[in-house]
Amino acid sequence: MILLDLDNVLADFETVYRGLINDITNRNATREEITDYSFAKALGLSPEENALVWRTFNEREMWRDLEPFPYARELVERLKRFAALAVVSNRPEAVFDLTREWLERNGIEVDEVYVTESPSKREYLRGKGKRPVLVIEDAPVHAREFSEERIPVILLDAPWNRFCRSEWIYRVRDLEEAAFLAERILSLVPARAGGL
Ligand SMILES: [Mg+2]
Repeated sequence: MILLDLDNVLADFETVYRGLINDITNRNATREEITDYSFAKALGLSPEENALVWRTFNEREMWRDLEPFPYARELVERLKRFAALAVVSNRPEAVFDLTREWLERNGIEVDEVYVTESPSKREYLRGKGKRPVLVIEDAPVHAREFSEERIPVILLDAPWNRFCRSEWIYRVRDLEEAAFLAERILSLVPARAGGL
């Protein structure tokens, strides 16, 4: 299966969450300032500010407010002929239903949806006996873990992952480029009975 990350890959989490940080903490932070995967760390939020922003985001169910990135649906349509598609999201497990609804509402049809608070998607999937053939991510920790297993990772370029490099990590600017590269990579994987 192909692992698709959700936040900051298919869904623009950053714009909404940064907007909330700016509103609540009276900042004027830009995307480029988020140079750490922890937005709180990158922007110097106090633990109290961080907790307040996270609580507010969840109380208002702002997961619903995220916009899909351009080409999210087209990416999924282009890749589904190669392998099963699984959205694997590091969100609170309580938002599983809301996550499925969001995908449905935005016309993003995948075979499986996993929402996990596990710090390691690789280990989470291993526990389910699953190993992706390709990963599309923005998070340095997951990108690195899968690349260590020699699983190709397409990394959506973001200020918080610029230092993340390996021979199995391919950086792209947007989802159209991701689709193009994914097709190239998947064409090189030998076809197996029953699909990938
Ligand atoms: Mg992500």
